[in-house]
Amino acid sequence: MLTSNEMERYQSQLLIIGKNGQELLKQKKVLQVGAGGLGSPLSFYLVSSGIGELILFENDFLSLSNLGRQILYKTEEVNQSKAVLAKSVLNKLNPNTKITLIKERFTEESGENYLKNTQIDYIVDASDNFETKFLINDLGIKFNIPFTIAGIQGFDGQLISVDPHETACYRCIFGDIPNTDKSKPIPIMSPTCGVVGSLEANEVLKGLLKRGKRITNNLLMISLDSGDFTLIPIKKNPKCVCQLKH
Ligand SMILES: [Zn+2]
Repeated sequence: MLTSNEMERYQSQLLIIGKNGQELLKQKKVLQVGAGGLGSPLSFYLVSSGIGELILFENDFLSLSNLGRQILYKTEEVNQSKAVLAKSVLNKLNPNTKITLIKERFTEESGENYLKNTQIDYIVDASDNFETKFLINDLGIKFNIPFTIAGIQGFDGQLISVDPHETACYRCIFGDIPNTDKSKPIPIMSPTCGVVGSLEANEVLKGLLKRGKRITNNLLMISLDSGDFTLIPIKKNPKCVCQLKH
């Protein structure tokens, strides 16, 4: 049951998803990988919308160069644990949502260990590297948990949501991890994080509420330089790992 405080807090959203939808969100657990540029707006919206629990995988410490786009954090907090800082901000935003920190990198070992022992309703990628995105894809499919993966560079963003064994996956599009030069910082315009991170939150909420149409079997390509939002249809690759039943 929603308290009168929650009824007031979620007033605008209740007009769309109703009490049943809000109570459903309250029961849901979302695993978010990364609390940086994408993860900042993403976690803000997931928590302010009233999901039951947000599990954050983040092991990094705040640097000055993060502040240009990672809007969870403040200048005076440089060198502190991003996970701890994020939890403090998100708890103040909405104390009704439980924030669980996993102060580790999301690796095959830590990710699999966590998913083996915990029931999760949705996984969302807010990482800054291909290894983690492919890993989220593979573990989401293995544990049969819906997920959303996004990427950003410059003014551009990409996003896809996946229902394991039902819709095309990240590997159906990209095959295997590409070789990239990790020594160079990725160029990013800060609003790109806001747009793409917010779209991810919207995908997660629709997925949890089972309403609307998520961006599945399509790759959304966004150019904030030209203003183009383009959906590219993706077919399942019959040889892809996502076609195999684990
Ligand atoms: Zn696939």
